[in-house]
Amino acid sequence: MKLNQSLYAYVWNGNDNNCNSYLFAGVLAGNKHILIDPGHIVTPYLHEDGYGRLVEEIESDGLKVTDIGLVILTHAHPDHVEASEKLRSLYGAPVAMHKDDLGVYKMYGGKNTIDIQLEEGVLNLAAPVLSPLEIIKVPGHSPGHVAVYWPSQKALAAGDVVFYRSMGRVDLPGGDEKAMKVSIDKLAELDLQYLFCGHAYMHPGVIQGKEAIKKNFDLIKEYF
Ligand SMILES: [Zn+2]
Repeated sequence: MKLNQSLYAYVWNGNDNNCNSYLFAGVLAGNKHILIDPGHIVTPYLHEDGYGRLVEEIESDGLKVTDIGLVILTHAHPDHVEASEKLRSLYGAPVAMHKDDLGVYKMYGGKNTIDIQLEEGVLNLAAPVLSPLEIIKVPGHSPGHVAVYWPSQKALAAGDVVFYRSMGRVDLPGGDEKAMKVSIDKLAELDLQYLFCGHAYMHPGVIQGKEAIKKNFDLIKEYF
């Protein structure tokens, strides 16, 4: 789903668990795109075609999967990561993740190649990044979880930190409730028009508008 010239949201609407994916268009040289969290190839229980659906939706928005120049994984859970290897092997898109999630990744049996280890701060790649993006480390759901902030678009891909009226689990391996609170406070400070959540839970997970986003953060903070 195209939100504007630069922002595309791929909301999972299957019955099995899978993440939402987001595409930041034209950020990389040569009009290449960044895809965040490609999700499952096939979902584990109902065998829904996560990968096929994603590629179909990207192409129906007039974009080419061959123009994906980088895949960023917000964290190492299989429902966010699985398809990265397929995109990498078919189209050569390098895959980036924070090193602090490598332990969790191994625990889940992850075998995908991680080409780039993300650091907190402005996204720095070998190839030029045309419009600066910020990698924000937000542990709590997992130790090396990152959010991707695009300041010029006021857009944040938050992964499994915040959802519509809820937050990510902190009871999985490497989860940390205290860290989660700090992470949510950190994200709530950002200037946002688009909040992209890692899952569609009772809502597509694409929250638009400064006020709606602030309200959502306020509601989540009340839980703590
Ligand atoms: Zn997760």
